[in-house]
Order: sequence, then structure tokens, then C-alpha cells
Amino acid sequence: MESALTARDRVGVQDFVLLENYNSEAAFIENLRRRFRENLVYTYIGSVLVSVNPYKELEIYSKQQMERYRGVSFYEISPHIYALSDNTYRAMRTERKDQCILISGESGAGKTEASKKILLYYAVTCPANDHMAALGDRLLQSNPVLEAFGNAKTLRNDNSSRFGKYMDVQFDFRGAPVGGHILNYLLEKSRVVHQNHGERNFHIFYQLLEGGDDDLLHRLDLDRNPQNYKYLVKGNCPRVSSISDKNNWKTVMKALSVIGFSDEEKLLNIIASVLHLGNTHFGEGEEGETHITTETQIRNLEKLLGVDGSALREALTHKKLTAKGEEMISPLNFEQAMSARDALAKAMYGRTFTWLVEKINQSLALKPETIFFVITSVVSPMLITLECIWPNFPNIPAYSFEQFCINYCNEKLQQLFIELTLRSEQEEYETEGIAWETVKYFDNKIICDLIEEKHKGIISILDEECLRPGETCDISFLEKLEGTLGGHPHFVTHKLANGKTRRVMSREEFRLLHYAGEVNYNVNGFMDKNNDLLNRNLKEVMCQSDNQILNHCFRREEVIDQKRPEMAATQFKNSLMKLMEILMSKEPSYVRCIKPNDAKQPGRFDEVLVRHQVKYLGLMENLRVRRAGFAYRRRFEAFLQRYKPLCPDTWPNWHGKLADGVSTLVNHLGYKAEEYKLGRSKIFIRFPKTLFTTEDALEA
Ligand code: ATP
Ligand code: MG
Repeated sequence: MESALTARDRVGVQDFVLLENYNSEAAFIENLRRRFRENLVYTYIGSVLVSVNPYKELEIYSKQQMERYRGVSFYEISPHIYALSDNTYRAMRTERKDQCILISGESGAGKTEASKKILLYYAVTCPANDHMAALGDRLLQSNPVLEAFGNAKTLRNDNSSRFGKYMDVQFDFRGAPVGGHILNYLLEKSRVVHQNHGERNFHIFYQLLEGGDDDLLHRLDLDRNPQNYKYLVKGNCPRVSSISDKNNWKTVMKALSVIGFSDEEKLLNIIASVLHLGNTHFGEGEEGETHITTETQIRNLEKLLGVDGSALREALTHKKLTAKGEEMISPLNFEQAMSARDALAKAMYGRTFTWLVEKINQSLALKPETIFFVITSVVSPMLITLECIWPNFPNIPAYSFEQFCINYCNEKLQQLFIELTLRSEQEEYETEGIAWETVKYFDNKIICDLIEEKHKGIISILDEECLRPGETCDISFLEKLEGTLGGHPHFVTHKLANGKTRRVMSREEFRLLHYAGEVNYNVNGFMDKNNDLLNRNLKEVMCQSDNQILNHCFRREEVIDQKRPEMAATQFKNSLMKLMEILMSKEPSYVRCIKPNDAKQPGRFDEVLVRHQVKYLGLMENLRVRRAGFAYRRRFEAFLQRYKPLCPDTWPNWHGKLADGVSTLVNHLGYKAEEYKLGRSKIFIRFPKTLFTTEDALEA
């Protein structure tokens, strides 16, 4: 007995539900710490998997381990991402319902790694489909490609995903994976032209320079030194010790060929062109007119993209306008030319990324009629809050448009969590008439409304300001926000209600009190990024390119059609709405990832950092709801059907009321009053152990 206790003291409990002091955050964190020290990085809160990034390779992901978890119940074996994957898979098959796995956590907490492990588990353990034997491979190989083009080194994570990802794995009626589909959203395009200190551009640029062979670089007119490219030097961080650009280059090229990709040449021409564009400079003439001073770059672009050099030159320094049906050409000043150039680089890269995802999807696509179920994984870039960055990065400036969108996305996912887990759990007890002590949680709908409400939400106000003719700028947008939202409990600017100013805040910032903490946003660039405009004549030049990828990305219709496309934030809002609708229709599972320290080191457990994440991931509320509740629930019919052989009164059939049958059965099995409750249509079982014992009796 004593040794068992010691072992438990040492490794903690594998399900937080078993914590004696389940209301104590300190006990919660202590349990995480103990397990982390023993390399036990996974712990459950009921069916939610909490994962702490070990920052070192653990021997727990082998094929043998996968076998251990196949078909085994959650509670019979130590917690693992494979257990969650397997459970989800089985739930899909037995309950015949689409599933989704939501993976969230701070940047660097291990979301991408978790999603890869889930995919690997399915690729290895699910029955293979004869026609699509290579599908598993293609699914797996989509990762290195997406990471090369969509990930970058940031201060927080050497391999940070700079886009949101939503991935479907489709299964046929036998449970074999038969297809896949990836949806990407919100690539951080601004990284193409600018990086903060200590950060890099997207990996692919460095991989190409480091790994491409001499002939290739010669053909692309590139040299190996990243320092020679303006778009790669801003962060002053060309190399990262944990990354081998050279090896990754090989992996990516191989992955492209597995996916069945045959356009590498055109793709690399675009990547190289982005670098040449970055090195394109402008001079100012005496009259303030702008001209290009770097002819070599234009010639390179001409050659690599198959565009007309003089048209490109003209389009980079002039703007085409249509006023009263007449076309006018107006020269750009120096600043405008620089931003037109950057806008082109961002558009080229961003659209190529979307094209790449489409290409991958084509290689994973399948005839829809063979799809029976879908397991979706959603990786959300995590909410960034002030407190979290304070300890180690005091100088990080206020956040920008992209982070605003990311944080909005997280607010929506939190809503989904509340809807599907907290609220639905509590509502079920109510409808079943089970006595229940309500657990309080903060409903973040008020913040979602603040951002997305029609006419008076931040996005609407931003759109309106972008469309308003005349002198508008980021500051006038901020003033509009203050006018409409001043006094809102979750919105703060430097203006105080009494007309005085709050000195600690800059005049260019607003602060949102997100569910997880406070974040300051600097309005600089909000309008530009929301407009996401590319001068029409630049689009025209791209349309005429003889690079087929660009042809696909820049359509003629876009130039001809003068209608304004939806603004970036609204587009994002609409795609989020769709995503929420899809996710609401699925059975959710959760992986909550925690980052143990900011130094990306193994063995370090920074309590302040962890506590903050436990708070904003809502883990304590989650635990309280779980603890107050019942681990299992089954409809009377299902319960009777399964366990009726265990009792002579219910075997072979029970003829009375279902509830009475269940009652007779559990009495016979010796369930104690505190172990279960009968609702109106379901039996609720408090502890997993009770059900295990019953299952064992069935097998005996
Ligand atoms: P971001 O939001 O920035 O994309 P993320 O949550 O996706 O962050 P990952 O890229 O998955 O973070 O993880 C960051 C790093 O942590 C990985 O590159 C890897 O080195 C390490 N890591 C994460 N999970 C594990 C794990 N289970 N085992 C070993 N190392 C891990
Ligand atoms: Mg990631």
C-alpha cells in the first residue's frame, strides 16, 4: 500500500478528475509538474487530453506503442495522444458520427507536433484502402510542404506555423482512410516583407538558398547568402541552430514528388522572384517622380516570371485609376512605390501558398460518395496575451491586424468549447433532471460580439472606414472605434471616460480584454491590411505572366471586374462562421497543449508561464464541470442491451419500463448509490472504474 502511495506521489494522477483537491489551481499545477518531471507529458481531464511539451524526443511514439493503444479504453492505459486518436476513431465507427479534434495552446506548445502524431497514428493503424494505398503517405507528406511554406522561426518557436489549419481525414465504411482535405486560413503574409528582430521569413527561402544545387541557384540568379536579400535580413537571423535548412530542403523536394507535384520549377521561380522583388529599389527624381534603380532585378523578374519588363517597371512606379469611366495613370511617390512592391511580393507569396494547398488537396481528393465519416483536426494559433509575454519579452510592441484576427479566431473557438462542453454538459443534466450544482464560467460571447457584430463591431467599423471616401487613416479608424465602443467593458483606449487620457497607453493603440487576458493592438497598418489592395496594373502584369501558377493565382476576371472584393477581416469572419457551423455538427475532442518554458529547453517547468496557460485554456473550469459530473452516460436501451446478460431478471429480455430494468440490473450488480444516477432517459455513472468492472464481468 505504501509503495503504491509513493508511486502516486511521484507521478501524480493520470486524470485530474482523480485529484483530491480539484478546486485548487496549485494542486493542478503540482500534478502537471510531477508528471512532467517523470516524462509523463500527457494527463486527462476526463476526455480532454492535456499535453506538456517535453522539448526532447521521448520513446513513446513507436509503432509498438501504437499497437498498445489500439482498441483499448481510455482509462485502462496511460494517457497518450494515441489513446485520444484511437478513441476518436472508434467513436466515429461505433456512433457513426463525424468527429473533430481541436488542438489549442500557446505558440510552441506542441500543437503541430500533436496533429502530426494523430495523422501518423491513422496512417499506420487504420486498414488500408486498396485503391488508395499511397494515401497515407501523401497525407503525411503534406506536412513538410506546408511547413516549408507556412512556418517560420519566431522568438517563441523555431518552427512556428504562421497560418491556421483545418484538416479532414476522410474514411470509407470499413474505416479505411480514403481521402483528405486541408483548409488553410490567415497566412501571415506580412512576414514575406518584414520580420521582427530574431525572427525569420518563411523556411522555404532559406532552404532554397542552402539546399538548392548550384545549377538551380544559377538559373534563378540567386547566391547562397541570405544576407544579400532585403526580405531576409530584417530579423538579422539567417540561421537557426535547431534547423537544418539543407536537410529540410531535401525532405520538401521529396515530399513534393510523393504528392505528385510536377511544377517545382515554376514554384521556385516565384519564390526566387519574391527575393528579387525585395532587392528592387527606387530612386527619386527632382520632381518627386520615382524610378527603378535596380535593372538586374527587373530583368530577373522578367525572365523568371515571363512578364513584360517594361510593363512591370511602369506598374511598380505608377498607378492606374478609373475615374468617370476614363483611365488615368498617376505616378507613385517613393513610399507608395515601396509599398506597391511589397504588396506584390505578399500577394504573390500568399496566393501561391493557397494554390499549393489546392494542389495538395487535389492529390488527396476522392469521389465524395465513398466518404462515410470524417475526422477533422483544427490547429488554432493561440491567443496572445500581455501577461504571457511580459516576463521575457518586455519590448514586444503592441500587436497588429494579424494577431487581432488570430485572437478573434480563438475567441470563437472558446465559444465552441463553451457551447459543446460546458454548456451542453450542464444542459444535459438539466434535461435529464439530475441534481446538479452549476459551475460558473465566463461566457466570452460579449467579446465575440464586440468584434463581429454588424454595424457596431470592430470589423464592421474597420470595413466602413476602409470604404469611406476622403481622408481616412488608421487614426481616424481608432477614433471611430472610440466613438462607437467607448465605455464597452472589454474595450480600452488612451481616452478615459472623463475626457482625460490614460498615459500608459499610446494614442495609436486599443486594448481588448480577451477571455484569456489583455492585449494591446496598434492600429498602424490595420486599414492597409484589411484593404489588402494590389494596384490594378500590377495585377494586369501578373495575369500576363507565362508562369501557370501565377496565371491561376491572378485571374483576368479580377482585373476586369471592378467590384470590390470582400475586405480581409470580413472574409476571415465569414470563413470562421462556416468553420464553426461545420465543427458544431461534429463530436469534439480536445488536446490542450502547454508550453513549459520560454527557453525551448527540456526539463524546465516555469510555473508562472504554466499557470497562465492553465488559466486561459480554461482547464480549471473544465475540471470542475467534469468533477461535478459523471464520467459516463448511456441511454437506458443501450445500457440494458449491453449488460442484460449479467442479471437473470433482465436476461434474455426485460419487459417492463426501461428505467426499472436498468435499476434492477444495477442493483443486481451492486452499484452503490453514489456511483450512479438515473435520469429521464439515461444512466449517469460517476466513476470510470464502475463501468470497467461491469465490462470485465461481461467478458468473464
Ligand atoms: P505555433 O503556434 O508557433 O505553430 P505549435 O504549438 O505548433 O506552435 P510545435 O511546432 O508543435 O508548436 O512545437 C514546437 C517545438 O516543440 C517542436 O518543434 C519540437 O521541437 C517541440 N515539441 C513539441 N511537441 C513535442 C513532443 N511531443 N515531443 C518532443 N518535442 C516536441
Ligand atoms: Mg504549429
